[in-house]
Amino acid sequence: MARVVAKGNEMLEDHRLQSFETYRVRDRFPRFVSRNAKGNPQKYGGSIQVRVITTDQGMKGWGSSHVPDEEIKPLIGERMSDLIDPDVGTSEHASTLDLPLHDLAGKILGQPVYKMLGGKGSRHVPIYSGSIYFDDLEPEDSPRGVAALVASCQQDYEAGYRAFKLKIGRGFKWMDPETGMQRDIEAVRAVSEAFPDCKVLVDANDSYTCDGFIRFLDGVADCDLYWIEEPFEEGEEDLTRLKDHMAKIGCRALIAEGEAGSRHARAEGASGRPTEPTAYGYYPMWHIDHLYKLAEKGLVDVFIIDLGIVGFTRWRTVMPELVAAGVPASPHTWAWCVRPRYASHLAAGSGNVVIVEGIPGESSGLDYSNYTMVDGSMVVPDLPGWGIPIDEGGLEAVQSSAG
Ligand SMILES: [Mg+2]
Repeated sequence: MARVVAKGNEMLEDHRLQSFETYRVRDRFPRFVSRNAKGNPQKYGGSIQVRVITTDQGMKGWGSSHVPDEEIKPLIGERMSDLIDPDVGTSEHASTLDLPLHDLAGKILGQPVYKMLGGKGSRHVPIYSGSIYFDDLEPEDSPRGVAALVASCQQDYEAGYRAFKLKIGRGFKWMDPETGMQRDIEAVRAVSEAFPDCKVLVDANDSYTCDGFIRFLDGVADCDLYWIEEPFEEGEEDLTRLKDHMAKIGCRALIAEGEAGSRHARAEGASGRPTEPTAYGYYPMWHIDHLYKLAEKGLVDVFIIDLGIVGFTRWRTVMPELVAAGVPASPHTWAWCVRPRYASHLAAGSGNVVIVEGIPGESSGLDYSNYTMVDGSMVVPDLPGWGIPIDEGGLEAVQSSAG
């Protein structure tokens, strides 16, 4: 019987993976980025490993790929059509090259990644700056106060951002609880007054108590917060209290949850990370089930599970499940500047993304200039693959090994 082959797969059949190169890309934030509630300063950005993969026809694609070279070598010689199905994503056995294969398939097919994903969303993807940390506490010997936060927002405003996510929770360990909360309030008020045309988001990294967070919220009740992320470890009782209080004070913010797990959901002895990926990648299912349960009760509005922990191909099947459950997403992308670009293709391709977490900055060897900012949205380029030219000559080669 004749086999019916999609045209895309036919084109991919003609290519075999011939070689790969491994590089380190270094980010450069536009400024020193300070601490959040729990962690140390993010400084000027980190680095990420990428791979350039080449077919026997000389086509090249690239993307982040973390594993050692030894895990990539067995894929050499395979047909592109066995490595990736443009309608579904990367084959499980090739998941170590998930992102490079999407770029490469896009280049072979002459298609942007978002189109390969179905083009279900707009190319104009709303984006926020996720880089507003506790800049008011820096430098430690002479802290600049909230004026520093307004200056950071101004810098991102000039780069085209019209939404800012402020880290809060200064009272968790950097200041005493009361002074920290007052500073959190002062910070939100200062930014929302300075940028009346912008959205203000807050992220406490689970550092507040429910009572403390409700008091914080009273202090910013007139600021029309767009989004509240991880105010405390998500539990049904506390979130119900929060939602009731929000209704009382007319706070319409979305509750964004799921980056990190909650002790309220974790059974004693349950592992934090599965050894084999589930349908939600390396998130344990107790975490995912708990989130869906909270969403069903109207207590969580947006899932912010991570782009890479889930995995790009798995996101393509997770998104329809979220659509069916009526829950929008915003894949967590911190802390690498390239990741908001991958997320924007997912948003434009699979739809159902309310806003993308942006990370202002540049990356060595990667040219982001095809991505423009219009009215607070990042515009996904209509170019094959990611639409991000890579300069291999400008990158540091990595001899990555298992040993
Ligand atoms: Mg967060």
